[in-house]
Amino acid sequence: MADFREPSTHCRFYNCTHVQEPGCGVLAAVKRGEISASRHRIYCEIRDELTRSRY
Ligand SMILES: [Zn+2]
Repeated sequence: MADFREPSTHCRFYNCTHVQEPGCGVLAAVKRGEISASRHRIYCEIRDELTRSRY
């Protein structure tokens, strides 16, 4: 997601999934209202799908 790219540069971990990591820049942006919670939820669902189809 394009609007996750900038906040994700602030993540503590380079391989952050932006779902529940501590120090996640994307989660911080959601909390500040810079990313809507619904967009983040959709992201989590898409990520879930991708993870499931891979295994
Ligand atoms: Zn993150």
